[in-house]
Parts: sequence; structure tokens; C-alpha cells
Amino acid sequence: MSERTGVTIGVLALQGAFHEHIARFASLSASASHVTVRSIAVRRPDQLAQCDALVIPGGESTAIALGMHNAGLTEPLRAWIRDGKPVWGTCAGMIMLANTATGGKRGGQELLGGLHIQVGRNGFGSQVNSFECDVQCPSLGETPFPGVFIRAPVVEALGAASSDASPPVSHSPASMQNLFPDTPVQPIAWLPPASNASHALTDPSRIVAVRQGRLLATSFHPELTTDTRLHSYFVQMVLASA
Ligand code: GLN
Repeated sequence: MSERTGVTIGVLALQGAFHEHIARFASLSASASHVTVRSIAVRRPDQLAQCDALVIPGGESTAIALGMHNAGLTEPLRAWIRDGKPVWGTCAGMIMLANTATGGKRGGQELLGGLHIQVGRNGFGSQVNSFECDVQCPSLGETPFPGVFIRAPVVEALGAASSDASPPVSHSPASMQNLFPDTPVQPIAWLPPASNASHALTDPSRIVAVRQGRLLATSFHPELTTDTRLHSYFVQMVLASA
């Protein structure tokens, strides 16, 4: 019998859809022949040492930020990101990873940062504007990915924040800005182009997933579907970074 490679993915379990991520990784492990994927709920800084990678789930970014703060996780997580460990943020997790967020809490909100993008919080509208839509993600093949968007953030800029960002604007601390200057942010998934928008694939407002080296962020919720291709993609990222 061939030896199976094992990875441990920590899922930040303070608020939001963490159970669903853990379940997706578990189903992946059951179906993959050569990789054992263990996923654990992370609630304390000492648990990070057991993890090869981390997922920050969707939920509510202000609640997640408060939970991180109360658990003493904010600085350990920033150090983890600075060390170049793999991290995947979904929806609120994308906001937490962003270096700049607009439309946040009045007075600003705390971001972990590291991913050099600007996001607009609730940029697709409020809860009633939640929608499902096939997403184009060439890295996963031709079959579109079922995107579930719930008060999702919009990717407003790749790289530095735009100067006309609408207030309130939140920034990650200076220690997290421009961490990986030689690794550009790559869009990896888009909403389908509107029939009359030939430039759609370069319009940041259609970008719904980005990658910058070992940082991955999706504005939608792959853990709320049974399609495990993005969980699998992240595991491959983790294996490649080992
Ligand atoms: N709009 C939420 C926030 O600001 C994110 C929503 C989600 O994760 N589904 O955190």
C-alpha cells in the first residue's frame, strides 16, 4: 500500500460557517486516494502549531475580528500570514485577509491583512440580495463552480487601495501591507460576463476569487455546496507549499 501524505487544515471556529468547511475537507479525505486531509477547529493560538494551513470562514467579519481579539489570536494569525503559511478566506474571511476594506463599520474595523486587495463590504447588497450564480474558474476546469453569495464583498482593487475609496475605509496595520511585493494578486474566478460587456473579465467588480502566492480568497461560500473542487484546490496549494 502506498504511503498517504497528510495535511492538517485549521478552520478558524469563532463564528460563521466553520462546521461546513470541516465537513467538506472530511468528505475530500474520504474520496482522495493519496492525501489524508485532517481538519480541526481552531479557537486558540496554541492550536496553530498543529496546522499546515488555515481557513477563515464566512460569517460576519466584525464578529470574527472581535472573536480573534478576545481569543488572543489576532497577532498570532498576522505572524502566521507574514510567515507565508497558506490561508484561505471565504466571504467574511476574504474581508479579514484584505489590506483595505470599504463600507465597513463606522470608525473602521480590524483587518488581519496580508492580501493586497481592496474589498467593498456587502458590495453585492444586503441579505435580501443574496444570490447563487455559476462562477467561471478556469483553474478548476470548464465546468463552472456554483457560487453562493451572501452579503458578499466586492473586489474593488487588486494591489494598492484606490484613492477614491468611499469611507469608512479600514486598513490592515503597516506590518501587513505589501508583504509579498514580488507576488502579484491573480484573479482566479469571475462572475459570468454580461452579454454586452466584452471587457468583463478585467473588470474588478466581476472578480470573485483571487490568489496571491499562498493566500487564497473567495467572495462566495464553496463550503455551502457539495462541490469540493475549491477545497481540493486549496489542499493542492498546501501540498505545493510544504
Ligand atoms: N458581509 C459580511 C461581513 O461583512 C460577510 C458575509 C459573509 O461572510 N457571508 O462580514
